[in-house]
Amino acid sequence: MPTPVVTRFAPSPSGELHLGNVRTALFSLLLARRSGGRFLLRVEDTDAARSSEPHVQALETDLHWLGLDWDEGPGKPGATGPYRQSERAAIYQPLLAQLEQQDLAYPCFCSPQELDLSRRAQLGAGRPPRYAGTCANLDAAARTTRRAAGLRPTLRFRVPAERTLQFDDLVHGAQSFDCAHIGDFLIRREDGTPAFFYANAIDDSLMQVTQVLRGDDHLANTPRQILVLEALRMRVPGYGHLPLLTGEDGAPLSKRNGARSVRDLREAGFAAAAILNQLFRLGHSGASTALLNPEEMAAQFNLSHLQRASAHFDVAQLRHWQGQWVHALSPDAALAWLAERLPRDIDPLRRQAFVSAVLPNLVVASDVAEWLPVVFGGELQFEDAARAAVIAAGSGFFAAAAAAIPDAGAASAPAPVIDLAALRVATGRKGAEFFAPLRAALTGRLHGPELAPLLRAMPLPLVRDRLQSAGRS
Ligand code: GLU
Repeated sequence: MPTPVVTRFAPSPSGELHLGNVRTALFSLLLARRSGGRFLLRVEDTDAARSSEPHVQALETDLHWLGLDWDEGPGKPGATGPYRQSERAAIYQPLLAQLEQQDLAYPCFCSPQELDLSRRAQLGAGRPPRYAGTCANLDAAARTTRRAAGLRPTLRFRVPAERTLQFDDLVHGAQSFDCAHIGDFLIRREDGTPAFFYANAIDDSLMQVTQVLRGDDHLANTPRQILVLEALRMRVPGYGHLPLLTGEDGAPLSKRNGARSVRDLREAGFAAAAILNQLFRLGHSGASTALLNPEEMAAQFNLSHLQRASAHFDVAQLRHWQGQWVHALSPDAALAWLAERLPRDIDPLRRQAFVSAVLPNLVVASDVAEWLPVVFGGELQFEDAARAAVIAAGSGFFAAAAAAIPDAGAASAPAPVIDLAALRVATGRKGAEFFAPLRAALTGRLHGPELAPLLRAMPLPLVRDRLQSAGRS
């Protein structure tokens, strides 16, 4: 039987979830889904100083909101858990001890100051810095002396310098690293916690991950991780490194060139579907141009379509997908999307009329704020051209229109609907001569949502007031 595909997302909870990470999570999830495999979430929180509980919670909230739900992970027990590295100490220690006993790793007593000095010296001599090997060959007596002096060692993996390590990257193809350039690296910190190279590698193996997809920034770490797994005779997953996301200026995506966290985008009113649709196209070619749901994305996802060049994130494209998503919403879904931004005390029919009227003019949910005072009352801000159209139409036009607005009637009866045909007859105008001043007086603008549904949403007294005050200007 072929090995089932297992992928994972392994964030460090040291900050907000940003788009580069979301794309990694999305591609990993799609790779698992397209082959009926499993997608895991593993929280890499061994570095207590940089990890925080609120970040873990925010991460989970963001992933759920995006619909990137894991099959196993925090809150979803599975055979290879626990899924928070801070809870896996008992798993890490014996394998670290094994490496040390077999002299595949050794205790290092160098202080941060000594390491820094050595690093600077190498840089000064024009060499790439790596661990100089100071503690590589200490004998037992020397180690005992240092321990007795109260020094707490880290543990370093002994890199076989004479080796060339090769692997096939799932995105970049054949890779070859000369181990002579890889210094002996940390696998356990001074406080006993496992370091990234080690914990990340052995967890992927123990969790039976078959393909690791992650950012390009980890490409140079991979030979180290393969060395650790080989030393422990553990299964090595396939690795694929996704090129970075860049801003439109070509620089790595950051706050300066338009990057926003998932939370920022959610609060601005972007839909998860829009974010996922855009990310799906960043660095993955051949997708259809339609708005896709996650199942459709999974069916179209193909590892061989991953591109090697960096991909540009562009807010205009995100807005394009957002627009596609908004325009495909059913009336009920549109109402649900906007519900929390609408005034609570409005009649359900008016609410529905408002949503259908403004929907074509919205991209993000927060855009609705522009139309709330226009439709439900509040001072109108007139654009210059709208003011001019009001003045040009003359007071007679507005007096006639105001007089044709029906009375609100009894509060219990359904509100009468404004009949545009009757208004046209009353004012004696038609076409643009009718619509432009009417729209200008009612909305302060010459463009915007269709007038008929907008009028169904507006309270009659407000419509009459606005027409009357336009007649006085
Ligand atoms: N915790 C690492 C990070 O967030 C994981 C890298 C990986 O996916 O292997 O960068």
